[in-house]
Amino acid sequence: IHSKLPNVGTTIFTVMSQLANTHNALNLSQGFPNFPSDQTLIDLVSKASNNGYNQYAPMPGQLDLLLAIANKYQKLYNASYHPDTEITVTAGATQAIYCIISAFVKPDDEVIIFRPAYDCYEPAINLNGGKTVSVQLSAPDYSVDWDEVQSKVSSKTRMIIINTPHNPSGTIWSESDMKALENLTNNTEIIVLSDEVYEHMVYDDAQHHSLCTFENLKARSFITASFGKTFHNTGWKIGYTCAPSNLMAEFRKVHQFNVFSVHHPSQKGIADYMQDEQTYLNLSSFFQAKRDLFLNLISDSKFKFKPSKGTYFQVLDFSNITDEHDVDFAKRLTKDFKIASIPLSVFNVDGKDDKVLRFCFAKTDETLIKASEILCQIK
Ligand code: PMP
Ligand code: GLN
Repeated sequence: IHSKLPNVGTTIFTVMSQLANTHNALNLSQGFPNFPSDQTLIDLVSKASNNGYNQYAPMPGQLDLLLAIANKYQKLYNASYHPDTEITVTAGATQAIYCIISAFVKPDDEVIIFRPAYDCYEPAINLNGGKTVSVQLSAPDYSVDWDEVQSKVSSKTRMIIINTPHNPSGTIWSESDMKALENLTNNTEIIVLSDEVYEHMVYDDAQHHSLCTFENLKARSFITASFGKTFHNTGWKIGYTCAPSNLMAEFRKVHQFNVFSVHHPSQKGIADYMQDEQTYLNLSSFFQAKRDLFLNLISDSKFKFKPSKGTYFQVLDFSNITDEHDVDFAKRLTKDFKIASIPLSVFNVDGKDDKVLRFCFAKTDETLIKASEILCQIK
């Protein structure tokens, strides 16, 4: 076979979840909650289905949901996205990301990504003939050297993909990072894709600086978001993207032939649920309590950490325990200690191994307590 992705295997999220199942291990690897979505939301989706929202949704999205999303951006960020022309509901953030890349990246174009990078970006770039240009960030701070980024911009740079709050590191870009990005892209034709699926999960004194609050950036960018992350139902695969109308028109040319539209009753149910903005505004305090519980319980373990500032992931440095490769250590923990995590090297340039594992704390307190008991036993 002439594979279009000869170097791509099965995503680490599937690999580690399967290994967790095989060994009956606690699964803190793939990022999903092990507690249910709010019953009120489930009832609203059933009600939408009972009320006849069962045929194709409009291609750009169900109207009430487009309005609810526009309203959220206005209220939270004072940013205006027109519901008719500047927002599209997608099959999770993944499908939005794939179609944004497909709509703009041509053979030989370059796309700058920051590593460790979420694993769906690069294959989408490659399938469209583009070339990934990586900026490698390092544990424990994952801070960006903007001179390095500037040095990687060329006449071929079509797009820059950013992700804040950041999966897997749990770091957040500061206002000055966003301004540096704005300065770097001013007077260029670079399109920015800002993956903000964890926007509602920020901790301590951290603040999420949505790209839409930077006017010059907003004019050249897509933002992607995921209801699966926000409303604890990753299996529904509903997300959306926002962009100025000239960019969104190009996106919709691809989206309409990729999925056309997505699950109609969920869209109506989510729209009704979002009328109460507490449904997403209370997420940070909800997850901060889980992060704090987890970190307090492992404070005497041999793992080293800086508390996650955002997302529902915590990275733990295991260099005090072993010098094994992180993939080997993650697999050994799953088999022998019955706890599954995600090794970060798979997201890095040439598998750079900083000896850190990612643990998902979107879990019941009971699971977090069991997990921390195991982690404290690892010497
Ligand atoms: N981007 C990042 C950074 C993610 O962690 C995820 C996983 N939720 C996605 C995109 C994809 O989101 P979805 O499940 O809505 O496709
Ligand atoms: N976003 C999830 C994570 O980072 C995984 C999503 C997936 O499995 N594709 O764990």
